[in-house]
Amino acid sequence: MEMEWDDPLYRSTVALFEHTAETMKLDPNIRRRLRFPDRAVIVTVPVRMDDDRVETFHGYRVQHNNTRGPFKGGIRFSPDVNLGETTALAMLMTVKCALVGIPFGGAKGGVRVDPSKLSRGELQRLTRRFTAEIINDIGPDFDIPAPDLGTNEQIMSWMMDTYSQQKGHAIPAAVTGKPIEIGGSLLRLQATGRGVVYLVQDAAAHLGIELGPKITAAVQGFGNVGSELALHLHELGVKVVAVEDVKGAVYSKGGLDIPALRRHYQEGGKLLEFPDVETLPKGELLELPVDIVAPAAVSGVITGKNVEKLRCRILAEGANGAVNADADAILRDQSDIFVLPDVLANSGGVTVSYFEWVQSLQYFFWTADEIDGRLRAILSKAFREVLDVAERRKLDMRTAALTHGMGRLAEAMKLRGLFP
Ligand code: GLU
Repeated sequence: MEMEWDDPLYRSTVALFEHTAETMKLDPNIRRRLRFPDRAVIVTVPVRMDDDRVETFHGYRVQHNNTRGPFKGGIRFSPDVNLGETTALAMLMTVKCALVGIPFGGAKGGVRVDPSKLSRGELQRLTRRFTAEIINDIGPDFDIPAPDLGTNEQIMSWMMDTYSQQKGHAIPAAVTGKPIEIGGSLLRLQATGRGVVYLVQDAAAHLGIELGPKITAAVQGFGNVGSELALHLHELGVKVVAVEDVKGAVYSKGGLDIPALRRHYQEGGKLLEFPDVETLPKGELLELPVDIVAPAAVSGVITGKNVEKLRCRILAEGANGAVNADADAILRDQSDIFVLPDVLANSGGVTVSYFEWVQSLQYFFWTADEIDGRLRAILSKAFREVLDVAERRKLDMRTAALTHGMGRLAEAMKLRGLFP
């Protein structure tokens, strides 16, 4: 393991790539190449804090591969951000974009910081200085950031503004996940969570499960992805019995009132203080005997330690890297759980980012129906293609998804050839 990249998620992601490469007999030259990013930028981000001190943060932008199009991927603000984690997430972005067939490569970025500890002013100064530090490494034709864990529409607005200020005019296509008022796309905010549910619908249809009040679900994470996912399942009549945030989970045997819970949360209420529900300690909801479990928060939550305790029928991975390599090997070989792997399950986010980028470049905007219809079509096609690879080659869904994405990427790499 190369020292500078060492990190649990990087190790796990390399193991996954290696397993897939082995299974699909990937060209060894390409296989070696994909373990590392094209380029990794590390920046120091000094920020004037409200008490007048200057705090020093560390930021990253890792560009894994751009054979199929500009680099694309989110920016995460989290205390766990490091070079290895960011690289692993960039690797997953490359596969994700290839898998759904959108013309992007893969990247990821982030700053090692706990954003909940910063004031709004500090957060804005941090975002603007980070953007300024990577300004020559991003751009609408080259590398397009988006939100991820710990970042949101407001952060994207500040990134877009900082980029545009430096260039002298508004460049909305420089980032995706922007608010609609400054050139964002309808449905981008909902796309990741909603996309997970579209894939759950496809998986349920394939398994002969009718989604409705007899079906139960548990969702880990109540941020942008988790809350949207829970809401959409609820709207389909599925009984969402448990949801969890960083503090713990709320549970109700008869199903939670998700719209009320979202209102309570958006108004600043604490999840665990929602009235008339039971609570569960962190992580326990993954082991509930429900039909659908959807991890939609941080990575590495399903490991060799708890994977055998899972009792769901469908595992829908809203979060990137939720299942580590040890757990994956067990799921692959000895389990009846139908896995919707992260690169497939959460690809609705980057798919609508692609729609947003196209709209921003053309200054021509689509209706919500057009966006929703196109999103559905792309995700259903990706689901069918991955299922087809899984059935034809007798593979688990994760290996099949990676095989499909890496196969497309390898084709593109061969066509373009090696420079010089
Ligand atoms: N951060 C999201 C992901 O992991 C979205 C990336 C994007 O829209 O570029 O897929």
